Amino acid sequence: MKDHKDTIFKTVYQHNQVPISAADMERLQEIARDCREVKNYVYDRYSGIRSLPKIYPGYTVQNEMTKSGLRERLGLPSVYFYLSIFDALGDIKSQWTDVKSHVEKNIRGNSDFTPQDRHYLRFVMKQSQCFEGILLGERPALAQNWEERFQAVCSKVDAHRLDQYLRRQVRRHLNRPRTDAAEGFPASPKGYRYADHGIYLSMKESRQRLFIPLTDNNRYTRQVYIRLYPEEGRITVNVPIEVRQRHPDGYEGETGLAMGLKCMFVTDQGRSYGEKYLEYQTALTDYVREKLPRHQRNAKNNPGMKKYNDEKHRLQAAMHDYVNAEINRMLDTEKPGVIYVPRLPAVSKAGFSRRANAIIAMWQKGFVKSRLARKCRERSVELVEVFGKGISTECCCCGAQGTKEGELFCCPSCETRLPERENTAKNVLKRGRALQEKKSVVHDEGFRG
Ligand SMILES: [Zn+2]
Repeated sequence: MKDHKDTIFKTVYQHNQVPISAADMERLQEIARDCREVKNYVYDRYSGIRSLPKIYPGYTVQNEMTKSGLRERLGLPSVYFYLSIFDALGDIKSQWTDVKSHVEKNIRGNSDFTPQDRHYLRFVMKQSQCFEGILLGERPALAQNWEERFQAVCSKVDAHRLDQYLRRQVRRHLNRPRTDAAEGFPASPKGYRYADHGIYLSMKESRQRLFIPLTDNNRYTRQVYIRLYPEEGRITVNVPIEVRQRHPDGYEGETGLAMGLKCMFVTDQGRSYGEKYLEYQTALTDYVREKLPRHQRNAKNNPGMKKYNDEKHRLQAAMHDYVNAEINRMLDTEKPGVIYVPRLPAVSKAGFSRRANAIIAMWQKGFVKSRLARKCRERSVELVEVFGKGISTECCCCGAQGTKEGELFCCPSCETRLPERENTAKNVLKRGRALQEKKSVVHDEGFRG
């Protein structure tokens, strides 16, 4: 998300109100040193070529780290342990991005290559299994359709020579990261709690929390960074705030939407639209189900039937107006260039009451979606449907299967906790982007000389 072109980050700082004692500072510094050790451990183990298949999406690394026994040896609360792993993994991933862009630049600048050579190299660098296979000196195992494309690009070049070039280039640019800094540590809401005009931080002693009074009363619910200034007896709580950049000149960027009955849309940034949708729809469905004058259905022009129809149309119009207004509000606010939505699930009636079934059935007729499609067309916003299976049960950070605690999605693997629908929307965005990436590879192929 950090490279989302529509989002800029700024940091908000919170400060301690009274100086922190040397003893407490030492306890905080110990956590910072442990987090540094975890990061260096991850760097050592997973920044090499052999680990490349493990770092996306990353749960293999987490599982291996859980089994490593490092956390127990350090006695570090799991929240700090796993956040440090993510930090390190993030660094390794961005290192790979840098390596790739260096290599791509060299490929472009190398006048010995034919257009076919360049096309081959571009292809294998975009197709992750090809890339990993070549770096490891193995024949990549590809799905049928990819295998055919791979064969096609291979047939026109000296693949052996180009593979060697690629391996050499990657080895030259790949560094093993290492950090000596222990000036702070990351904390997520699992590791802190705002209360009493301050913040409680989890400590290494089990169940103990250190209370630090703060100069402001603001509360945040995201991952923060606790920065230590031991000489001055102070800390700052650094809170990254995402600010969506406005583009007055037009719509751009990508938005993932979770769609539902309780709320029409939740975006991947966690913003909600159409929170009253269910009320409108329930009113209409209940009226249709309950108020139809049963003995007069076939009697035309009778006063009961006319009253019924008038009221039904009134409720329908109210719902449609509401839906339209909320779609407009969403588009006006988000100004997306592309919207990703999940395909509607197949109609299922298992386990619900008849009333709930009637409400679901009406929703599934897809009024909201067809309105959304129409309004997107009017504003030339691209609307893309993504594969919806399992999209609400998967963790958007690591891909593991999560559980629900009330409205919260909880990941047992990486400890992500997010509003359920925000997690879904983030998955929608992720799947949408993967889809676009695939398209661009295919597109690229179309240009081969
Ligand atoms: Zn997870």
